[in-house]
Amino acid sequence: MTIGRDEVLAALSRVRAGSEPLPGSGRLSEIVVDPAGRVSFSIAIEPSEAASFEPVRAAAEAAVRALPGVAAVFASLTADRPAGASARSPSPAPGAAPRAGGPPRPQAIPGVAHVVAVASGKGGVGKSTLSCNLALALRAEGLRVGLLDADIYGPSIPKLFGLGGRKPRLISGRIIEPLDGFGVRVMSIGFLVEDEAAMIWRGPMIVSALTQMLREVAWGDLDVLLVDMPPGTGDAQLTMAQQTPLAGAIVVSTPQDLALIDARRGVAMFRKVEVPILGIVENMAAFACPNCGHVAHIFGHGGAEREATRLGVPFLGEIPLDMAIRETSDSGRPVVALEPDGVQARAFRDVARRAWARIEGGARRPPPRIVFEDGASA
Ligand code: ADP
Repeated sequence: MTIGRDEVLAALSRVRAGSEPLPGSGRLSEIVVDPAGRVSFSIAIEPSEAASFEPVRAAAEAAVRALPGVAAVFASLTADRPAGASARSPSPAPGAAPRAGGPPRPQAIPGVAHVVAVASGKGGVGKSTLSCNLALALRAEGLRVGLLDADIYGPSIPKLFGLGGRKPRLISGRIIEPLDGFGVRVMSIGFLVEDEAAMIWRGPMIVSALTQMLREVAWGDLDVLLVDMPPGTGDAQLTMAQQTPLAGAIVVSTPQDLALIDARRGVAMFRKVEVPILGIVENMAAFACPNCGHVAHIFGHGGAEREATRLGVPFLGEIPLDMAIRETSDSGRPVVALEPDGVQARAFRDVARRAWARIEGGARRPPPRIVFEDGASA
């Protein structure tokens, strides 16, 4: 039996937001029900209302979960603020901890030492391919690694790890267990909702879905959690960069001039929210001919490195345009897991080592504080 929007609305009309039923309060987003019976919606709040509306969110979720035919409920609080405005005076994400002597920063994730964004100014530059193989390369260094696929416009991490169609398990209450991808703990919005559902989410809803995925997944103890960000440098990305407790960002670019302009925008975006740039990676840098092994720099050589120098950020290395990288990606057997000592894996592992040196060197910080839902901290 599948559930319809009307039944969801009827259930939500028994939940009160202040003095009114939730559906009439003007706070309820569109309700998305996917064919598998998973329901998602968000409740709009002012940033200051996060704590007082958490019980409303929980009640709404419980009311919908109780309906027959509902497989899962994805309810979130959304603080809808223009990103430009909030960049100057950041508003706390729900549950964010105030930082003494500075603007509020997102709260760290207990057990996770470093959260690192992998970003690009535009799509199709190999950001997901790099995220996947970089995670595996860091794993090959003996690190405990997680990968969160936050690229809601095209979540490709499930496919890259050969985990397409798999569903994560709910382990207690709202907490989801990540899936295992060759030793990397993997979570993707693609495991939770159908592609079409994610596509119609508004920017702020994307941000709160990400916040939920960061905090309601049993990551366990991790040395590093990579976040495959959605491509681009729009408001959704900016807010996301701001509301995620990032130790740093890696920006991926291809050698073409246009892509480098996008990379520049990416660097500028993270600077705006004061997230350190760990470096630029040049993907599809040179073409390695599968027949003769000849390497050709089709778009010239050294552009990304020069650009990195010009921008004053480190250059983390280059990944060749290589048939084996594309083929292994498409077949869900990533090259670094498949042939960790092969020539392609070596390129990713070099980048991983440089990135890790930067993460460890630059991102030391005090242990995370434990912060409770109501904003009190221990
Ligand atoms: P993005 O995440 O930036 O949209 P993807 O990682 O999905 O990009 O890559 C886009 C396409 O390019 C995919 O088909 C992928 O297999 C291919 N690709 C990415 N990097 C390389 C590379 N270094 N060599 C060959 N193909 C690549």
